[in-house]
Amino acid sequence: MSTMPKAIEELTLDPQDWDAVERLGHRMVSDMMAYLKEVRQRPVWQPVPPEVRQTFEDGPPMEPRPLEDIYQDFVHHILPYPAGNIHPRFWGWVIGNGTVSGVLAEMLAAAMNSNVFGGDQAPGFLENQVIGWFKQIYGYEESTSGLLVSGGSMANLLALAVARNAMAGMDMNRDGIRAAAPLTLYASVEAHSSIVKAVQLLGLGGSALRSVAVNDRFEIDLHALEDRIQEDLDSGRRPFCVIGNAGTVNTGATDNLRELSRIAKKYGTWFHVDGSFGSFAVLSPELRHLVDGIDQADSLTFCLHKWMYMQYEASCVLIRQREQHHKTFAHAGSYLSHTEGGFAGAGEWFNEYGMQLSRGFRALKVWFAIREHGLRTYGKLIQQNAEQARYLGRRIESTPELELLAPVPLNVVCFRYRFPVQNEAQLNQLNERLLIEVQKSGVALPSFTRIHGKAALRVAVTNHRSRLEDFDLFLDTVLHCGRHLAF
Ligand SMILES: *Cc1c(COP(=O)(O)O)cnc(C)c1O
Repeated sequence: MSTMPKAIEELTLDPQDWDAVERLGHRMVSDMMAYLKEVRQRPVWQPVPPEVRQTFEDGPPMEPRPLEDIYQDFVHHILPYPAGNIHPRFWGWVIGNGTVSGVLAEMLAAAMNSNVFGGDQAPGFLENQVIGWFKQIYGYEESTSGLLVSGGSMANLLALAVARNAMAGMDMNRDGIRAAAPLTLYASVEAHSSIVKAVQLLGLGGSALRSVAVNDRFEIDLHALEDRIQEDLDSGRRPFCVIGNAGTVNTGATDNLRELSRIAKKYGTWFHVDGSFGSFAVLSPELRHLVDGIDQADSLTFCLHKWMYMQYEASCVLIRQREQHHKTFAHAGSYLSHTEGGFAGAGEWFNEYGMQLSRGFRALKVWFAIREHGLRTYGKLIQQNAEQARYLGRRIESTPELELLAPVPLNVVCFRYRFPVQNEAQLNQLNERLLIEVQKSGVALPSFTRIHGKAALRVAVTNHRSRLEDFDLFLDTVLHCGRHLAF
């Protein structure tokens, strides 16, 4: 007879007092609801004070601490000092708010702690369902493949990897980029930096990306594009991909996607669309003409954490050629074999369509949000943001101290204060300082860009909490800070 060792205390990370954790959990939920409800009363952003930054230098703890203490540290040192993007007057870069119910969906996903790599599990079927909705929204066939990923940068990388492998005319996975003809791809100078990073990472070399000029609306110049493709063909290169923007970060411009699709077909290239935020114009009957032709792309990137106002992180890539998508990422060890029946006997194998093997349950918050609000509501909100941007643009145009620096086709507004100085360099310097003053005011958070070399305050509205009056308050602050700096 074996002798059982006597009552060793076995460790677990589960709580000893479940009721106490549950009580604290209820308090956290109440605190967070109040935090969100009162967001309008707080400054958009404030710098992290030195004494708080100091606390982030503490070394790794060896001994346990009560959960309650750690929560207090969170409440005092972290919660008050975010970037500010849940606030109604945060309009920097292209950043979404998240929603109240999104908090709860994230909690449910965390409780399940699913690893959605594949197999016969509801989270996997649900992810496929959500991707299927997007195929319908954007007009892609049922056979299109797709994947939820961390962000638009990752979606662009995956799409361009598939494009490269599919169009190289050789076995890229086996023989590598060295064995390929000189591959070239095309995007406007306004394309996102993640495209450049992807091209570099894919071994193509940054110079393979031909940056094509834009017209005065910041849309790709189609003649310049064709000229460049022809030139590359004539010199023995292999043009393999044309990239279209649906909403550029700088100005919200959308390329002529229908024409780009025609050009891609004419030269036999892949057609990728980076629609990280602008592609959602498709949900608004008033705006959807802007992305006409988006259903013609071979691959499409869009970010749910931007203009769909969902919690970070959630973006998606759709790829029309499922086989090519699979071939690019299908490599799997024997430990990942599918089986006849059992857990590994059914479901989609997401690990065979991207870099990630372990994958979180991003799809749950997407499924909750779209079911709760309905696509019609998203369309109206997107339209509302675009109207707010146009309103801001009109107000800037009718204010002599301000200058609108680019058209406002969508939800991005770039402008500057016309300081009473002559020199462009001084004007740039002053507008850079103005931006910082406005950010420090805590009233609003625009970000920075340059339009034709001119320093610009940039407002991108992907914010379901913004109201028209917020833009009035913002302009009052800009004028106040501007006058202060100017005189
Ligand atoms: C934000 C953005 C990206 C990158 O998306 P992330 O989710 O931030 O990685 C790519 N392209 C465009 C046009 C974007 O606006």
